[in-house]
This record gives sequence, C-alpha cells and structure tokens, in this order.
Amino acid sequence: MFQKILIANRGEIACRIIETAHKLGVATVAVYSDADVASKHVAMADEAVHIGGSAPRDSYLRGDMIIAAAQATGAQAIHPGYGFLSENPDFVDAVDAAGLVFIGPSAQAIRAMGLKDAAKRLMMAAGVPVVPGYLGENQDSAHLAAEALKITYPVLIKAVAGGGGKGMRLVANSGDFAAALASAQGEAATAFGNDAVLIEKYVDKPRHIEVQVFGDGVDAVHLFERDCSLQRRHQKVIEEAPAPGMTPQMRTAMGDAAVNAARAIGYKGAGTIEFIVDASDGLRVDRFWFMEMNTRLQVEHPVTEAITGVDLVEWQLRVASGEHLPLRQQDLTIKGHAFEARLYAEDVLAGFLPATGRLDHLVFPCDARADSGVRAGDTISPWYDPMIAKIITHGPSRAVALSKLSRALVQTQVAGSVTNLAFLVALTRHQGFGQGDVDTGLIGRDLDALIETPIATAPIKALAALEVAKLPNDALAGFFQWNPLRQTILLRHQSAVCDAMLELLGPNAARVTMDGQTLVADRKNGLWHIDGAIGAKAMWTGASVTVFAPECAFSFFPMDPLAKDAVVAGDGRATLSPMPGMVKAVFVVAGQTVTAGDRLCVLEAMKMEHTLTATRDGVVAEVLASADEQVEAGVALILLEGSE
Ligand code: ADP
Ligand code: ADP
Ligand code: MG
Repeated sequence: MFQKILIANRGEIACRIIETAHKLGVATVAVYSDADVASKHVAMADEAVHIGGSAPRDSYLRGDMIIAAAQATGAQAIHPGYGFLSENPDFVDAVDAAGLVFIGPSAQAIRAMGLKDAAKRLMMAAGVPVVPGYLGENQDSAHLAAEALKITYPVLIKAVAGGGGKGMRLVANSGDFAAALASAQGEAATAFGNDAVLIEKYVDKPRHIEVQVFGDGVDAVHLFERDCSLQRRHQKVIEEAPAPGMTPQMRTAMGDAAVNAARAIGYKGAGTIEFIVDASDGLRVDRFWFMEMNTRLQVEHPVTEAITGVDLVEWQLRVASGEHLPLRQQDLTIKGHAFEARLYAEDVLAGFLPATGRLDHLVFPCDARADSGVRAGDTISPWYDPMIAKIITHGPSRAVALSKLSRALVQTQVAGSVTNLAFLVALTRHQGFGQGDVDTGLIGRDLDALIETPIATAPIKALAALEVAKLPNDALAGFFQWNPLRQTILLRHQSAVCDAMLELLGPNAARVTMDGQTLVADRKNGLWHIDGAIGAKAMWTGASVTVFAPECAFSFFPMDPLAKDAVVAGDGRATLSPMPGMVKAVFVVAGQTVTAGDRLCVLEAMKMEHTLTATRDGVVAEVLASADEQVEAGVALILLEGSE
C-alpha cells in the first residue's frame, strides 16, 4: 500500500477519497485553487498545495502543477476523482512519465473508451450488444439524414466526444433532422473541439441501467447494477441499486456483458458500463445495449457500496498499489436496497438554474450517509459544480430504503442558497417511482407536479415575521425598550412581498395580521405556536430568515419598509442579474430603442450562458454592465427609461 497519495480534485469526491485513505493509514495531499483556500477537502488532508487560480483551467486542469505538487510532497500516487483530469489519457501518460502511479486505468484503456463511436465498435467486436445506429466516418449531412431514415425515427444524434448530455439531440421525424444536426454539431464543436456525431435508434421507454466493474489488469468482476433512470435532461437525479424489477437472467446477461467489455481492454481499476434498456415490455435479455464506458469512479458509486459492503475507493487504492482483486465474483452478493439523491444549489423554478451562496446553515440527517464537500459557513462558488451533497440511504427492501430517503431529505436543512431539496422530496413521493415504474422520461412527464412549490402558508409567514422581530426570550423590558409595541414587517418571499403587522400581547405572546387574517402566536419553552399548533423552526440565515417546514425550507428577505414602493412597483426599468456570474457581452447602448424580447446582454455562470432580454419596449437609459465584469446576484445591469 502507498504511504502517501495526492488527490487531484476538490469537493465531495476529494473528501470521500481522503476518508478512505486515512482509514487505510495512507497520508493525503490536497491541491486547491484560489477559491478553495478555506475548503473542507483542504482542512481534511494532511497537507495541501496551492496550484493556481479559481478557473479549472488554471488549477484543477493543470496536470503539470499537480504532478509537481505530488513530487514536492513525496506522494507516490495520484487519485483523480471524477471530472477534471480523470479521463484524460495525456495526463495519465504524464503521471507515468514522472514515475508516479495513476490510481485508475491505463492511458490506453481510457483512449479506447474515450470516443463513443470507437468504443461501440470495440464492444461489437467483443460480442457486447450495442444500440443499433450509424457509426461511420462520413459526416456529410445528406448522408447522415439518409442513415437516420434507415435506422427509423425517433433517433438520437450524439457527439462522439460527448459527455454530460452535451451535443445530444432527440429527433422525432425527418423534417427536424437538419436543424437538430446543426445544433448538435455546433454544441459539440464548442464543448469538445470535435463536431463528429453518431446516430442511434432512440430506445422506447428507456431505462438507464449501468454495471459497476472492477479489474486488476488480469481479471475483472462486476458489482451488480445501478438504475439511473431518474434523469432530467439526460442528467442523473436519483440513483438506486439494485435496479427495480431486475431478474436473475437479466442480471447475469448484463453482468457478463460488462465483464466482457472490461476484459476486452485489460481493464484495471473502477469503471462503469452504461447500458440503455428498452423497458416497454419489462426487462428482457435481448433488449439492453451498450451506450458508453466511464473509465473512473462514478458519482453514484455509494449505492453500490451500500448493497455490497465494498469500499470502492479502498479497492482502487489496493489494486493501484499492486494487489489482486480483493474478492472473486462468487464472493460478491447484494444485501438490501440503496438510493442516492443529488442535492444541488439550484433554482428549480427558474429552470434548474445553478445557484451560489454562503451556506449559513447546513444540517444533514442523522440516519443517512451524506457525502459532502461543504460545511456550514462554506460557499457554493460560481466556479464549480453546485453540488451540496449526496444523501444515501440503505434498507432491507426498496420500500424501506425509499422511505428512509424521503425522511432523510426532510431532515436536511440548507439555508443561504436555493436548493432542489423540495423537488427531491416530491420525487421520493412520486407514485410511479414508488412502485419502481421508472424510465428516463418520468421527470419530464410529471415536471409540473414535481416542481409545484409548497405555498408559504400564513403560519409560516408569521413564524418568519416573529423571527425578524426577534422578541427576546422572557425579556419584556427588552421588547419595550428596543421595539415599538406595534411593528410593520415587510418580507420578500420569491417575487411577492408580505406585509405583516405584529402586535405585542406579552413577553411570549403576539398577534400577527397579514393578508387580511390575524393569527395568535404564543411561545412555550422557547418554541412559537401559531393558533395553538406548534410551528416549524425559524432562524436567521445571513441576510434572510429561513423557516424549515417539513416539505420545504422557505426563505424570507426582510425589507426596509421605506423601500417598499420602489421594490413593489417593479415597473420593469431595471434588468437585474439573476445570479452571480460574468458578463460576457452587452448588446445595447444608452439611447437605443428596444422591443420586448430583444437581447440586452449575456451572463455566464457555472459554464452556462444566460441571455437576458428586455421585458418591455423602451429606450435604454443607462448601461451599467460591461463585458468581462464579474457581478453579484440582484445587481442592475441595464436601465430602461421610466415607464411611458
Ligand atoms: P456520473 O456519470 O459519474 O454519474 P455525471 O454524469 O453526473 O457523473 O456527471 C457528468 C460529468 O461531469 C461526469 O463526467 C463527471 O465526472 C463530471 N463532473 C462532475 N462534477 C464535476 C466537477 N466539479 N468538475 C468537472 N466535472 C465534473
Ligand atoms: P453522456 O456521455 O452525456 O453521459 P450517454 O450516451 O451516456 O451520454 O447518454 C446519456 C443519457 O441519454 C442516458 O443516460 C439516457 O438517458 C439517454 N440515452 C442515451 N442513448 C439513448 C438511446 N439510444 N435511447 C434512449 N435514450 C438514450
Ligand atoms: Mg453517460
């Protein structure tokens, strides 16, 4: 075993790897960017080396700096985590050349699986079923259109260099093909510097079922399957193991195919073979096809760990240090069922827009595994993936594991950023999902119901108002001295402003009037009861007050009563930045006439571009933003002249 390793990553996966290394007595070196100086992974590691600026290309993608850090600290091996350099064969070559060990597969195995078309050809040769489609070199658009017709619609266009759902387009009929092809090629050229595509038959009622494999370069085993069908725009949201409805025949067929795939490339380390399954008629051994191989540890590996009892990072370290596979296929068994939910800082109602913020309050459930790279007080910055944590539960049956997940999510408290927590809770209560009836279209079909935000009820608003007023516990004098007997409290919640009037009835009693109704609040043992019912926990979290109701955390921003009219009037004069980010381009100048829908500027945040458009017709009064400027959320970027 190694004495010391370097982890070339950040966030939850860096923390996850450090935990296992320490469990095995292996010392750890973290690397970090400017944005991560005070981050959790740096605090956990034995040593940490600063490698550059906040942008990934200036730090976590700087293979040269990372290798130099390993050499300077005497680390013998480098664990890449996932993302960043984990699937970059040139980095693996450089690590080898520096006399260090790359904890993962060979550069050759990564190259073999790097492009989707080449990987599919290799798998066909190894006897693994692949999705029917066109894999040819001829990229002429008329030729591709003819191939699509042969495959029969619907078809999926995929960038051969694709990943993360980019460069992929579903095409329903031949009339839409040309436009879809052009947009897939454009996106692929920008994201991967390679506009080549392949075409696949779009599988009916698709389920994404993947198999965890592990090789030591000599032999390979599989650690069963994970079902990742709960997806939004081809991105995984909740994963589980084993797959619901899996039969022993299907498991054997998929497991054998996956192990064949790993053996075909002499695979060493952890890998995942992703299959697409046609579930229109249950799970059938002749209806699963290879999609791609991910030559690294996968985000959702904890569900496999939960059902097998194997620590996959431990296996990675053992195999990389020269040991053989720790267990044989017949020694591996499935125990119970496990789920993982990905908790993100994102604004679900704004189309799942990535969000940022300082997590003033962060509490994870006590009876679930929470893999996280942040602590209370840490910031989700605009530089990296906005994942807050992965919540993992395990139980003897699927039903038990799922209700544990639901409960664990309800117990999770995050304040300081919007999150997808309420959406995840709604998913765990979705009837079809509960019955194991999953496919990749489930979220899309039921999106409206799943994102329906629970309404902030009058008692919830009252609890927020009481917290804002901060009636000191048992200190009547304090209240009289510092607060008027009647107080007007203005709270902004999402786009609405709530106007609450608070009247003191005693040290532990108050009356709250708003929206035309009056509620009575009394405090017993430090807890507010509203109209006799015990209220949810409310607390100050940075500049806002959060009420942690069981179905959702509601945030309220107290406003200055004098500023009310300006904010409420909202005549559409100012275009505000919806999130922190970088202004990429400004399209208007002062004095210019614009009509509703015209592009005003582009904001880039979290690797996505957001075009901000005029909400009404008007004349530009002032341009406050300039290209390449970093802006905070809520800052005015463009002002139109006053309403006509
Ligand atoms: P997985 O396939 O392991 O479930 P996802 O599909 O959710 O992972 O993630 C899409 C890709 O984005 C993966 O290749 C993953 O390695 C990568 N990724 C995830 N987080 C980050 C990050 N913070 N920085 C760069 N890449 C990342
Ligand atoms: P990425 O590299 O972006 O992960 P994949 O090829 O793994 O791309 O596909 C991502 C997702 O797209 C899959 O998980 C699945 O939901 C969907 N998908 C891919 N291929 C097909 C197909 N042939 N038919 C139906 N859905 C598919
Ligand atoms: Mg994939």
